[in-house]
Amino acid sequence: MNAPAIPIKTVEYEKPSEGASCVAHAWARTPAPVSPAEKEELKERIRRLLREREAVLVAHYYVDSDLQDLAEETGGCVSDSLEMARFGRDHAAKTLVVAGVRFMGETAKILSPEKTILMPDLDATCSLDLGCPADEFAAFCDQHPDRTVVVYANTSAAVKARADWMVTSSIGLDIVKHLHEQGKKILWAPDKHLGSYIQKQTGADMLLWQGSCLVHDEFKGIELDLLKAEYPHAKVLVHPESPANVVEQADVVGSTSQLIAAAVNMDADTFIVATDNGILHKMRQAAPGKNFIEAPTAGNSATCKSCAHCPWMAMNGLRNLAEVLENMNNEIHVDPAIGKDAVRSISRMLDFAAAKKAKVAPSADLAQEAKLFQGIGPA
Ligand code: SF4
Repeated sequence: MNAPAIPIKTVEYEKPSEGASCVAHAWARTPAPVSPAEKEELKERIRRLLREREAVLVAHYYVDSDLQDLAEETGGCVSDSLEMARFGRDHAAKTLVVAGVRFMGETAKILSPEKTILMPDLDATCSLDLGCPADEFAAFCDQHPDRTVVVYANTSAAVKARADWMVTSSIGLDIVKHLHEQGKKILWAPDKHLGSYIQKQTGADMLLWQGSCLVHDEFKGIELDLLKAEYPHAKVLVHPESPANVVEQADVVGSTSQLIAAAVNMDADTFIVATDNGILHKMRQAAPGKNFIEAPTAGNSATCKSCAHCPWMAMNGLRNLAEVLENMNNEIHVDPAIGKDAVRSISRMLDFAAAKKAKVAPSADLAQEAKLFQGIGPA
């Protein structure tokens, strides 16, 4: 693997920038808990407003469990970012409310520029997005014109516009493998752990941007080893944004949808899960009766960095969702010129995913795929 020609800025995620992007700001804006009575009132209001506004709710597995349930119950979608993008693009609704983080709202807008895209809190961002500023990334790409630029979904619209391909964790490995088989050299951004995992799996020549997810970066290999000794029959499910010494101990490495499918289909009753703990809600619904244990993070000091929950995902709540539907504010805008360039890299991925799905033989493979996704919603 080549060394980068320019130094890549290291971002301190506790305070990646002044103001609205820092972690302290996110935790400060996390919605306050609501009473059971207020919860029911808010849910009813949201159901009514979704109908009145002819809007659909698209939620990520890491957001509040009430939002996930509402999305499914009202004909929306709770899923990973690949399915969120696809669902939002293909749904007839003119308004999409995206419960997640900003890059997900931007992706929805890029794919559906004619639709109104709203988010409960526009300051909900992502350390991977913050750690890959578009101007520095463009300079990095300019230094390596011989490489195919592949970026993770967790990036700004401007970074996607500079890329040849956008990928999500559920399909990144297949796409890099495909490019490697064509003899392409890859420039990968921004997640260093996911990039390194894909590089090892495919053997591709990959130059890696050095970003990371502040949640997954905190999972610890040594503590995981100790936890496994306590639960020798548990299977370990790991998202590949985690460090290598955690990924190495996994029984299954995959995207959120792939980890949920593994929890449903694996012949085990206990799982140790190394990804944002928001996913446990869907795992418990999809695999009732099984036990799910959070993988260890930095320890018991309970800092914002070590709670296995994303501070920006936590900004999505019932109250701000109801308010945004009431006022039709917090709209996502993407510069049309940037959107026009970004849509190419995203559509390439969606086309690749569609072609891959179409190639699945209508025999045992299809049955296997259907079985894999039983009970986990529209993914
Ligand atoms: S969990 Fe990590 S990758 Fe996902 S939005 Fe939060 S910071 Fe970004």
